[in-house]
Amino acid sequence: MNGSQKEHRTVNLDIHKDLFGANEEAAALNKKKFKEFGLTVIDIMGSVGTGKTQLIEALCERIRGKHRILMVAGDLATTIDADRVGSHEIDTVQINTGTACHLDARMIRVALTDVDLSKYDVVFIENVGNLICPAGYPLGADKKIVVVSVTEGPYMVRKHPLTIKMADIIVINKIDLAEVLEFNIDALVRDIREVDADLPIFQVSSKTGLGIDKLSSALGF
Ligand code: MG
Ligand code: ZN
Repeated sequence: MNGSQKEHRTVNLDIHKDLFGANEEAAALNKKKFKEFGLTVIDIMGSVGTGKTQLIEALCERIRGKHRILMVAGDLATTIDADRVGSHEIDTVQINTGTACHLDARMIRVALTDVDLSKYDVVFIENVGNLICPAGYPLGADKKIVVVSVTEGPYMVRKHPLTIKMADIIVINKIDLAEVLEFNIDALVRDIREVDADLPIFQVSSKTGLGIDKLSSALGF
C-alpha cells in the first residue's frame, strides 16, 4: 500500500434536480390520492392582484349547487384569500408558507393529512401570488391554470414563457377593464400563441361573470 496516495473526490450536486425530483414524487402520490377520492383538483397560479381568489369565488358560485368544494389557499402569512372564499360557506384549508414563495407537493400532502377528502368533489388550490417558481413545483393537480390580468401591463406573457408553457389553461382576467386601460387583448393572445399555439385561452371577468360559464364547462364542471 502506498501511504502517500491521497484521495481526491469530486461530488457533483444538482440541488435543483434533487428538489424537483422529490417534488415530482410527492406530486405523484398526491395525484394518486386525489384519484382514489374521485377529486378534480385545479391549481391556480398568477401574480398578486391578478384575481385568483376572485376567479375561485366566481367558479364556486357557478358550481356549488352541483359539486362539493374545498379551497386550499397558499400564502406567505395571511388568511385573506381563504377568509374571502370561506365567507361563501366553502370549506378552506390555509397553508402559510412563511418564506417560501410557492406551494410544493409535500405542503399539499401535509395540509390534507387530516382532511376527510371523501366530503369533496372539487379542490381549488390557490398558489402563492408569484408567477415564477410555482411553475417548477407541480402539486399533482389535474389542471394548472395560469391567470394573467389586463392590469399587469403588456409584457406579462413575454417575460414568463416557461410558466405559460407548463400551464394547461390560460385565463385572461379583468377583461371588463381592458377598454379603460387601453389594453390590447389581441396582442396578449398573440404572445400566448407564440409560446404555445394550442393552449386553451379564456377571457373572463371574474367580477361580472363574463366568460366564467365557458371556463367552467372546459374544466368539466
Ligand atoms: Mg388571492
Ligand atoms: Zn418560490
